[in-house]
Amino acid sequence: MFGKVMGATVVGIEGILIQVEADISNGLPSFDMVGYLGAEVKEARERVRTALRNSGFSIPPSRITVNLSPANLRKQGNGFDLPIAVALLRAAGYLKEEETDGILFAGELSLDGSLKGIHGVLSLSSCAKENGLKKVMVPRENANEAAIIHGIDSYGVSSLKDMVERLKKKDMEEPVQIDGEELLKKRTDDSLDFSEMSGQEMVKRAAEVAAAGFHNLLYIGPPGSGKTMAAKRIPTILPALTLKESVELSKVYSIAGLLPEGEALIVKRPFRNPHHTMSAVALVGGGRIPKPGEISLAGKGVLFLDELPEFQRETLEILRQPLEERQVVISRVHGTYTYPADFQLVCAMNPCKCGYYPDRSKCRCTPAEIHRYLSRISKPLLDRIDICVETPRIEYRDLEEKRRGESSANIRIRVEQAMEIQKKRYEKESFLFNSQLKGAKIDEYCQLEKEGKKLMKQAFVRLELSARSYEKILKVARTIADLEGETQILSCHLAEAISYRDVDLKYWGGNV
Ligand SMILES: [Zn+2]
Repeated sequence: MFGKVMGATVVGIEGILIQVEADISNGLPSFDMVGYLGAEVKEARERVRTALRNSGFSIPPSRITVNLSPANLRKQGNGFDLPIAVALLRAAGYLKEEETDGILFAGELSLDGSLKGIHGVLSLSSCAKENGLKKVMVPRENANEAAIIHGIDSYGVSSLKDMVERLKKKDMEEPVQIDGEELLKKRTDDSLDFSEMSGQEMVKRAAEVAAAGFHNLLYIGPPGSGKTMAAKRIPTILPALTLKESVELSKVYSIAGLLPEGEALIVKRPFRNPHHTMSAVALVGGGRIPKPGEISLAGKGVLFLDELPEFQRETLEILRQPLEERQVVISRVHGTYTYPADFQLVCAMNPCKCGYYPDRSKCRCTPAEIHRYLSRISKPLLDRIDICVETPRIEYRDLEEKRRGESSANIRIRVEQAMEIQKKRYEKESFLFNSQLKGAKIDEYCQLEKEGKKLMKQAFVRLELSARSYEKILKVARTIADLEGETQILSCHLAEAISYRDVDLKYWGGNV
């Protein structure tokens, strides 16, 4: 007796369809599972056998073989309990082919036959759709998540018994209905807002420019100058997530097991601020059973590294490749895993150990100490930061005035317009934002008029700019022009962009 059903495994953030076959034949009682199985999948054997027995299904004491294919792909995760159990129920004659056909099964079993939620269901459901399946059957707590994928009927079941009863019914009852667009609309607005910051105009302006072109940003200034305050508010001026972006991001959260229980989607742009003691693996992803790290969890939003020089240098160096490629590739003996790393990097740091340089009335650091502190940030990392701004100490009169600044909603309108312009301009390109312009594309999209060329020539000589810095100025000026709806980059846009370079030249000299 033979039975075959569909399951799936997750590699990186994509689901891959796995065929689960079970055969029950005469012979000495045995239970073998084959097909390049990870340790958790091998353990399914005992769980499935006990769960079936405790649910009242008797599998005759005979020779049982379960095969998971394709054979060349390592099967991981605990979602295979359910498809293995269903394949056995098919082979033992409890279920018919037409009752399980066209359905993708995923779920972990308890010994009593009840089903437990698993990670990565969104990727599995999306994989079902790509492979032409119409239904997924998952643990009840994962049903909302699976239902997000348009064109997939999602059924949540609580136990093996419940599942068999549902499959035996002609209509299987209604699938779970979730409207992703509605979920995104219903998101509650942030409690944070830029209007809470009075004064600090340069700091806020830099946040706006960085957000509009998805530029990486560094704030440098003394403690209490509003660096963290500003960084935390950047997601509030980014446009709302589209459903497509939200699904991509939610896949990452689901695989990491961080999708809030019962929730179907992540509806807000993330703000992740890992502590400087965090390990490289937790930051970029990896581990024995690979998982996405902070850089992937910050996707479509902000990765904030506060106290930048306090991070291990090697941890920071690992960020270089994902910053360039917007994804991270993790190699293991069993295969390679790719996670998205589509984040905006925002960093903050004190200018020296005590935090008060260049205010010599307060800073007691020696020049050598200051140099040592600043040089913890490597040149290649600085190279990937387009905008660098000094955050001055908050003046007493700013606090005294208590006037409210411009609201995040207002700033967001300008950011959205600038992004819209970029979307149109780069319609035929493989990138979305000015920050992603490279080489010849910079020449093509950042052309200057006569005045602008003159200004850039002066700056090049005066500031002894490197080619990299020159390009960064052009890209940032492009974003500033877009914020003002100007097709031509004008001298005033260049001047502002140059001012963001002045800062890192001041601290790191000709090194940048
Ligand atoms: Zn100091």
